Amino acid sequence: MQELSNLRCFRHGVREAVARCPECGRYFCRECITEHEDRVLCAPCLRKLLRPSSVRPFRLGGLIRIIQFSLGVMILWLSFYYLGQALLSLPASFHEGTVWQSGWWEANESE
Ligand SMILES: [Zn+2]
Ligand SMILES: [Zn+2]
Repeated sequence: MQELSNLRCFRHGVREAVARCPECGRYFCRECITEHEDRVLCAPCLRKLLRPSSVRPFRLGGLIRIIQFSLGVMILWLSFYYLGQALLSLPASFHEGTVWQSGWWEANESE
């Protein structure tokens, strides 16, 4: 640990470094370094550790959710659109056919 005395704090160039952050590998003075669960970390690394991946992945997750949602809506809309197209392309006799007059749904309900 003799070499530490020659090192300066990463943030305070005039201060002597007392510890090395194991996360970023930089040397820091007593003020910049903090102890957390028997580990000595610098402030930025501690913040990162306490709030793991708080900002970016959240945004990314939200974006993915939005994309998934719009994709779902699009697929739903497309299927309805093609269903409508398919129904329209059916011969008119189908609409006037016995399918709609058989009353199968009424038969079901009367039970
Ligand atoms: Zn660090
Ligand atoms: Zn410092």
